[in-house]
Amino acid sequence: MYINSERIIEKVANKDIDVVYNTAIEFFKNKFSISGAIKVKNVRRSGYSGYIDILKILDNRLELLIDKSASLSAGIGYLVHELTHISQVLKKKLDISSDHKTFLWDGKPYITVKEYGKLKIQDYELVPWEKEAYFNGKNLPSVFFQSKEFKDLAKINDTLKFIVDNQ
Ligand SMILES: [Zn+2]
Repeated sequence: MYINSERIIEKVANKDIDVVYNTAIEFFKNKFSISGAIKVKNVRRSGYSGYIDILKILDNRLELLIDKSASLSAGIGYLVHELTHISQVLKKKLDISSDHKTFLWDGKPYITVKEYGKLKIQDYELVPWEKEAYFNGKNLPSVFFQSKEFKDLAKINDTLKFIVDNQ
């Protein structure tokens, strides 16, 4: 039987990275007062750092997709960005009209889904729910990396100790 040692190393590393992501999810769920399990999937569409399906969240199926192949600090930033959107949807700050054609912000129509899809990046970042998500994604990962929850991961094994020591 042929065993590809690189493949084994990669699998172990991915398992440890998942431990970091799961710890970050629990950490930020508390911060955003989100209850219930959140499923994290790896993004497969190129050009996307992460996304959520608002209809699934409204249906209480808490799921987010992020590009886990990114560096850990970037990945945790994407995670916080998407968790911000989940929190906005659960609080009904961000919503969608019954015909699924218009995004509502604070209960008022803000932009159509069609117009939103055509926004250029600089305008996209100014949409209120994106502004908040970008702000959190930029500022909150460091709060996690300085937390006891993250630093305690070093006690689990040498790979996680390496990740914690080098973050
Ligand atoms: Zn966003």
